[in-house]
Amino acid sequence: MADTLQELQELVVRFRDERDWEQFHTPKDLVLGLQVEAAELAELFLWRASEQTAEDFEQAEFRDRLQDELADVQTFLLYLAQAAGVDLAAAVRAKLKKNAAKYPVEKARGSARKYDQLN
Ligand SMILES: [Mg+2]
Repeated sequence: MADTLQELQELVVRFRDERDWEQFHTPKDLVLGLQVEAAELAELFLWRASEQTAEDFEQAEFRDRLQDELADVQTFLLYLAQAAGVDLAAAVRAKLKKNAAKYPVEKARGSARKYDQLN
C-alpha cells in the first residue's frame, strides 16, 4: 500500500473528471453505489463455508474478483469523502481514537462483545 489515500483520491477524481461524470455523483448516488459495491463484495462470500475462505484466497480467479470489489468499495468511499469534504485518513484516525475509548484493551482484548456489554 504505497499510495496515500490522497494520491488515490486524486487518481479516481481525475478518472471521473476526464469522463465528466461528477454530474452523476450526487451524495445519494455515491452512498447507493457504495452499498451496491459492498453487496458485490459480500456476494463473494455468500453460501461459502468459513473453512473455504483460506482456500478461496489462494485461487487467482477469486482473488481477482475480491480485489475488484475491494477497489470498487474504496473508490466509492473516496468519491463520497471528496464530495463531502471529509479527510478520510483523518476521519479514520479520529474514529480509531473514539473506538479506543469505547473498547479499552484491558476490557476488550479477546472479546467480541459490544462496548456496552464489556465488564
Ligand atoms: Mg463491483
